[in-house]
Amino acid sequence: MTPEETLTQIATEVSGCTSCVLHKTRIKSVPGEGPANAEIMLIGEGPGANENMQGRPFIGQAGKFLDELLKQAGLKRSDVWICNVVKCRPPENRDPMPDELAACNLYLDRQIAAINPKIIITLGRFSMGKFLPGVKISQVHGQMRRIGERFVIPMFHPAAALHQAALKPAILADFAKLPQLLEVARHQAGKLPQAPRQAAAPIAEARSEYTVRATTPSAQAQPATSNPADEEQPENNPPKQMKLF
Ligand code: URA
Ligand code: SF4
Repeated sequence: MTPEETLTQIATEVSGCTSCVLHKTRIKSVPGEGPANAEIMLIGEGPGANENMQGRPFIGQAGKFLDELLKQAGLKRSDVWICNVVKCRPPENRDPMPDELAACNLYLDRQIAAINPKIIITLGRFSMGKFLPGVKISQVHGQMRRIGERFVIPMFHPAAALHQAALKPAILADFAKLPQLLEVARHQAGKLPQAPRQAAAPIAEARSEYTVRATTPSAQAQPATSNPADEEQPENNPPKQMKLF
């Protein structure tokens, strides 16, 4: 199957999925959308009310803000693949539960394997927790890490930044740094060993190897030991994974 066919197949499975309780209250499932060969994949939390009605990700208030943030980074929505950790709306926009995250993770892992993005941008703490379990978003937002054969950049969730005024300057600044981080990732990605495109890479278990901060005009790779998040996770005492996340 081509990546496009795989993604279509996943969307079909998601639309009929009954693997967790969220299927009972969904109107439309929201599998995600974007070009199958996207270099960048954004992963949010879960569909809200608008997304549940239309079956498309990030089309409400948070989505408008995300469009602005992407524009600031020189990107268009049509350049990136956008999805969520859960494909059906949690009632009243409550947090997704661990069993829902675990059930839906099977689809997300297959989407990641099919798209094989160079860079994954996590939006909010639930998608961050998949790649960087145990870290605090306040300490790592905007910092790029290599995880296996990809790069992961955790960002605040755009909805959180809309609701908490104090986060807005931070998310704006983090997206403003994105072009520099993308350059670093493109440069470094050329040197990484290529994994087979359809292989289900064990991303969640991979350890970050270094962190890149783009606080100066020339973004630099730094050793993992200089990362505050790693101080919480000493090399010889890695944190336990939260279930699948
Ligand atoms: N918030 C999300 O996390 N995802 C959406 O699709 C919309 C809002
Ligand atoms: Fe299935 Fe995911 Fe929807 Fe749960 S949220 S019913 S696992 S598609």
